[in-house]
Amino acid sequence: MSQLHFQQGPIRPPSEANSLLIRTTQGCPWNKCSFCTLFKGMEFSIRPIEEIKNDIWAAKAFYKGRKFESCFLQDGDSFAMETSDLIEVLNTLKQAFPDLKQISSYGRAQTMTKKSAQEMKAICDAGLNMLYCGMESGSIDVLKKMKKGITPKSILKSAKHAKQAGMKMMTFIILGLGGKELSQEHVTETANLLNQIDPEEIRLLSLAVKQGTELDDMVKSGRFTPLNEQEMVLEQKALIEQLNGISSRYGNFHSINLLMEINGVLPQDKARFLSTIDDFLSLPIEKQYNFILGRRIHYYTELSDMNNQLYFDTVQNELAKTDMSNPVVLDDVFYQLRQRMI
Ligand code: SF4
Repeated sequence: MSQLHFQQGPIRPPSEANSLLIRTTQGCPWNKCSFCTLFKGMEFSIRPIEEIKNDIWAAKAFYKGRKFESCFLQDGDSFAMETSDLIEVLNTLKQAFPDLKQISSYGRAQTMTKKSAQEMKAICDAGLNMLYCGMESGSIDVLKKMKKGITPKSILKSAKHAKQAGMKMMTFIILGLGGKELSQEHVTETANLLNQIDPEEIRLLSLAVKQGTELDDMVKSGRFTPLNEQEMVLEQKALIEQLNGISSRYGNFHSINLLMEINGVLPQDKARFLSTIDDFLSLPIEKQYNFILGRRIHYYTELSDMNNQLYFDTVQNELAKTDMSNPVVLDDVFYQLRQRMI
């Protein structure tokens, strides 16, 4: 393949794997969340509009007539751009890639609420019709402890703002983000906020504490007690139980999650989600450990994969290398394996 002559940022949501990626901003305008290292050391900047437009045409030349139906605007927050500039970028994108049906971006609640309703509508009408929201939690205490710089109020306000403009919304929730200390509040308040927003899609992630983060320090100093794998499953169970009156897609797509089969639409799949969780929780503890390890070392995707005797035995052999009788040791093994996955 010929060399890229347009910028590509370091991240995109997994669901944008086949999308055209155009970089409008560099870094994250906040860059302070206790658990995140994504843009550490990178100063946030909005790219000059002429550079972005040049990138769009360079991408068109590079992909040689390939038709894209979706485009993701990188990095952390395209809404930080002047509205007129963002619309100019969107118009250029549509000109260069006329088959685009969806253009999406991350958007911070604080930035979006600075735009007027008319500006949001104009941005949506120009093509930016899908918003990724890193909500993570609906609990004010969890958001504060994690230094998210947003509040449930601002999340709700920005979500309403975006929805009124006609944008679809995908929200990310992190299981375990409250630790043991705030687990119950994390679940209840997150369900409460999601029930008010009714986003098009809810995606789950499971917490893995990155080394060198502020959260890592909090763990080491005893200010944050991470949940073990089973406790995160219980959090997900409680979350699903408390999601009511919404019609969102709900999914576990990231490999850091345990039960990947919990993926469907609310409310019709709620009973199936809960029964999958109960299937896991009712396994004898040794089998739960076998499944967790099998997920973490990539033998299994779903619970039913344990029926493959060869896989099961291989995982069991790996499990036997640990101190299987000591749950603390096993929790630590899984904690470290999760750390390696991010
Ligand atoms: S807002 Fe998102 S990208 Fe920015 S520091 Fe927080 S988690 Fe990381």
